[in-house]
Amino acid sequence: MPAGSRRRGRALDRQCGKVCRRMNPLRRLRSGLRLLQPRQLRVRGGTCPFCGPTFLVRLRAEETGVRCLRCAASAVHLSMGWALRPFAGTIPRSDAYELSSRGPLVEWLRRHSRSLQVSEYFDDVPAGQLRDGVRCEDVQALGLPDASFDLVTHTEVFEHVPDDRRGFAELFRVLRPGGVMVFTVPLTASPGTIERARIAGGELEHLLPPTYHTDLLRGEGRVLCFRDYGLDVVERVAQAGFGQVRLLEPDPRVPWGYGRRVVTAIKERP
Ligand SMILES: [Zn+2]
Repeated sequence: MPAGSRRRGRALDRQCGKVCRRMNPLRRLRSGLRLLQPRQLRVRGGTCPFCGPTFLVRLRAEETGVRCLRCAASAVHLSMGWALRPFAGTIPRSDAYELSSRGPLVEWLRRHSRSLQVSEYFDDVPAGQLRDGVRCEDVQALGLPDASFDLVTHTEVFEHVPDDRRGFAELFRVLRPGGVMVFTVPLTASPGTIERARIAGGELEHLLPPTYHTDLLRGEGRVLCFRDYGLDVVERVAQAGFGQVRLLEPDPRVPWGYGRRVVTAIKERP
């Protein structure tokens, strides 16, 4: 099993859904109480793709308020879990790579895949080094060998990647032929992606007023969004070499209409 896959590091939490880590029950309760708007509270029986029959709870009337009561999966993770179902038969034979280090998706992959590599991006830690036991990687320049994974997953990462085309190309490179990429990004209904910022000549340039996502690792509203993805995300992925790129409809098993569209793509065999 690759280094870093079983290591325990500092707990993370992210409102944008990237990491909804496995918390101890007390912390989970505290986090739930922070989100709770009592009048908006809803609970219903359902199925979680990670832990089976469960109760799904809506702590407030927004996407970030949805959780599985058993594993704390967020709406984004529930959507990812259902999107991974068609690949479930091959996952026990898959070496997987997930671009975060905590949460129900990570735990599920750890239990079901042949091996799991995880990483986080820390802008002050060189790629390939560890922080709190977690491998640091920049998806634009991965320190991982070609053709080393069968499955790559990421949630709410690529809107924060300055050069997303390079990022997709890197994930294509580290996948084996026949390998699968499954991911979410915040998506608008617009046909085209709107670039909000870019790196030009080594300098950050804002093309639109900056927007940030919260990341408790770095702080409230600290993670810059480089773009608002539109439906052309499919073409961007295809341009990196992927085939069979699909934008799945929101899964109705994620309740209260908070299912996310998920992108799946395959590195087709030559
Ligand atoms: Zn669950």
